[in-house]
Amino acid sequence: MSRPLREARISLGAISANVETLRRIAGTEYAMAVVKADGYGHGAVQSARAALEGGADCIGVADASEAFALRAAGVTAPLLAWIHNPDSAFDAELAADIELGVSYAEQLERVAAAGARASAPARVHLKVDTGLGRNGLEAADWERVFEAAVEHERRGRIRVVGLFSHLSGTSRADDLAQVATFERAAALAKDAGLAVERLHLAATAATIRVPEARFDMVRLGVGIYGLSPFDDTTATELGLRPAMELSAAIISVKRVPANTPVSYNYTYRTAGESTLALVPLGYGDGISRHASDRGPVRIGDKTYTVAGRIAMDQLVVDVGDDPVKIGDRAVLFGDPATGAPSAADWAAAAGTINYEIVTRIGGRVERTWP
Ligand SMILES: *Cc1c(COP(=O)(O)O)cnc(C)c1O
Repeated sequence: MSRPLREARISLGAISANVETLRRIAGTEYAMAVVKADGYGHGAVQSARAALEGGADCIGVADASEAFALRAAGVTAPLLAWIHNPDSAFDAELAADIELGVSYAEQLERVAAAGARASAPARVHLKVDTGLGRNGLEAADWERVFEAAVEHERRGRIRVVGLFSHLSGTSRADDLAQVATFERAAALAKDAGLAVERLHLAATAATIRVPEARFDMVRLGVGIYGLSPFDDTTATELGLRPAMELSAAIISVKRVPANTPVSYNYTYRTAGESTLALVPLGYGDGISRHASDRGPVRIGDKTYTVAGRIAMDQLVVDVGDDPVKIGDRAVLFGDPATGAPSAADWAAAAGTINYEIVTRIGGRVERTWP
């Protein structure tokens, strides 16, 4: 069988192994695998299954629509969603047995009303803002909302199973300040009469570097895909295996004279007589144009640099005198253990983070899970 023209090949074995590795590091009772944004581009359903196989207890997504898709595909594990449509009534979420992150008082009222209509109490994770300035209850509202939650529990409308927050990762000191604030919220929740079984704060970075933030459960995202959340430490150094390899077939090869300009605006010219290889990947496929003249491309056992501007559908590699031919595979990134550049290399070339590199891979690129 021939390989897809453009392929993001995903190793599900790597995802399972990464979950196992991170679970061992965390040492927590529970571990959530986060598969939002189509599993950071790796396929949400496939990634969720691989993560559960690797020892995750539950799955986290951003939206309910992502949770519905997992349920429709037969994923029966506990699912938590925390980004909601402002006018959601939450009946469909509860019918699909989706746990809900709740971030403000009025949202809690709507979830409780849905819980009253449903056959079982809504399973709620209260989100508190401990300093990230994004989603979550403000400290001034904690006592009032915790008391309201206790009343809803008493009436059988909800069950508060979790209390959670999210770190900024700015510095160890900043993270520890958030840990202290989170502990204050947990104490207030307890005083109000909530018996929360899962406190959770750490995503991948804090799971590895801030043991104080691990509590009862960690929420593992980027790490399960084998990517490092740190600038100063590679995935390989963390014992993680990158799960995605992005490649395409070379669709044209031409021999050109010295000083041949390449692609829009002629930002690149060949130094001498040379061979140009054309790769059918561009910003339409999520390959950032910011990596023009910089992004690494592996062909055979050599790594080259993108020549000239990355276009919507294509990029060019100057392979010099190397015997590259049509049909050879150009690997943009993968597992560095195979010699491939890393998603982090592309992030550096594009001025962004590895998260964005894998998550933005577009719909024309065929995902395979061999
Ligand atoms: C995305 C997300 C995570 C996972 O973060 P990583 O850095 O990818 O591990 C965890 N918790 C929340 C609330 C998130 O939005």
